[in-house]
Amino acid sequence: MSPGKAWGAFSLVYVLAVMAALAALLSLGLPWHVSVACGIMAFAFYGYVVYKRYRVEVVPEGDIMLFDDPDDLRILCEIYGLDARGDGKARRARLVAFSRANSDSAFVWVSPKAVHVLGSALQVGLAEERPPAPVIIPEPEGVHGLVTRMVSDAGRPTAPGTLTSGKARSSSRLSSLKACPVCDSPLRKGAVSCRECGADLEFYAVLMETAIGKRLVSQKAVAERRKLRYPVPQLRDR
Ligand SMILES: [Zn+2]
Repeated sequence: MSPGKAWGAFSLVYVLAVMAALAALLSLGLPWHVSVACGIMAFAFYGYVVYKRYRVEVVPEGDIMLFDDPDDLRILCEIYGLDARGDGKARRARLVAFSRANSDSAFVWVSPKAVHVLGSALQVGLAEERPPAPVIIPEPEGVHGLVTRMVSDAGRPTAPGTLTSGKARSSSRLSSLKACPVCDSPLRKGAVSCRECGADLEFYAVLMETAIGKRLVSQKAVAERRKLRYPVPQLRDR
């Protein structure tokens, strides 16, 4: 079931639950206008949270190629609800396939597991859905394939020095950074990478200009700060 359909089913259940709660409030003697106000607030809150959190940008294929940290690729896979197992190559291949499949839209719906399970459960007994087309994961291309694609007109070359969204690197962007976007450590003047966590400062600063980038960096930051705060002790034999 597609995330959009899962959300449709989940929203239907939510609407019914709010209606039932309103009926209960009315039967308890709450004035109707207070009940209606509660209902409107419940719907507005639901709509805002779902729209804000579960409708995310599609990272273009060219930008996916710029991520070299396997952990970033894992977080991106998790945000899109893709299988995050395997190494960086496998994750990148899944992300590229996802990006190509959604290349005609700027945003996609993603659904958390609970919503997906509920949506699928509701679908049982309802109209049969056609089985989804098998996802073809492209083979990771070798050096030859990569060079061919980069020189061809159809391919989008990812030139060195290019940041996400096709932005070029610029030293002025770095001078405005006071703290690392990932671990929040204070930065030395002119630093291009963070001394504490090793993050490419400009890359993450530009990434954070998008909603999905903010989400990725905030998830990465949790892991990085935990690592910095609690250095893992070396295991010793007793
Ligand atoms: Zn850092």
